[in-house]
Amino acid sequence: MKRVSLKVDCDTLEGTRDGVPRLLEILAERRIRATFYFTFGPDRSGVAAMRVFTQRGFLTKMLRSRAASLYGWRTMLSGTLLPAPSIAHGAADAMRAAAAAGHDTGVHGWDHVGWHDGLDRMAPERVAEEYGLAHAEYLRVLGMPARTSAAPGWTVSARSLAVQEERSLHHTSDTRLGGPFFPSAGGRSFSTLEIPTTLPTLDETLAWPELADDTAQRAFFRSAPKDTEVHTIHAEVEGGSKAGLFAAIVDDWLAAGVAFPLLSELADEALEERERIPVREVVRTRVRGRGGIVATGWPEASRR
Ligand SMILES: [Zn+2]
Repeated sequence: MKRVSLKVDCDTLEGTRDGVPRLLEILAERRIRATFYFTFGPDRSGVAAMRVFTQRGFLTKMLRSRAASLYGWRTMLSGTLLPAPSIAHGAADAMRAAAAAGHDTGVHGWDHVGWHDGLDRMAPERVAEEYGLAHAEYLRVLGMPARTSAAPGWTVSARSLAVQEERSLHHTSDTRLGGPFFPSAGGRSFSTLEIPTTLPTLDETLAWPELADDTAQRAFFRSAPKDTEVHTIHAEVEGGSKAGLFAAIVDDWLAAGVAFPLLSELADEALEERERIPVREVVRTRVRGRGGIVATGWPEASRR
């Protein structure tokens, strides 16, 4: 049986406040559960958006990713021309609504842009501080400690993995490609189970020239699940301008008999045979359609 575990990354205030409720409707109508990862601190997403203007070839990138229509102008300017608002304070209701509807929830981060742009340059104590702030806000908003986290932009380091390990989480979802594993980095192995995202994300495939319209996108995702997959969606995209396309993709999967387990259920399943879970070194790779690098424990899978 084919299975797709939906992982919902919530990166911005607008995406969390407005996109999450929309996704909750889409999922409720189809009686599907997902795993939501929330960013809690300042929304500086405009910093990331502005970067495209300073990079070579920014115009093609803008046109191709249609960043403004995907993310909205307010989000793109947030933290640059407009002050950076706190996501936890502006979107706590949406976070609680996701948990109340029976979805799994976890920590995505504190300052999403700061983390995926600056983790390598961050002082070691700052890594622990950022991660701790996010968990403290999770506890305050959701009323219980988080059991799982997902690194912003799939960006991790030996230091950040060590900081995560101190929380004794049930599982993480920090990386791309391949099956569940125990990460190793910096000469150390960790005992927090990692469950990678396996499918390309819609904000990546939208940049693939051969998938020029929604029909082509839908056809790609219809045939994408091979066995058990983890599919990351973004509250800003699938809960925003691409909500209709996302609903159609899910409907295609439902029609094909695809099941939608939670990430925690995949983790429980893997942990039943703990001795069979491999230890894999976390390295960095590129995935098609995404600027920047991502963490992976299965670099060979990116060449398939
Ligand atoms: Zn994210």
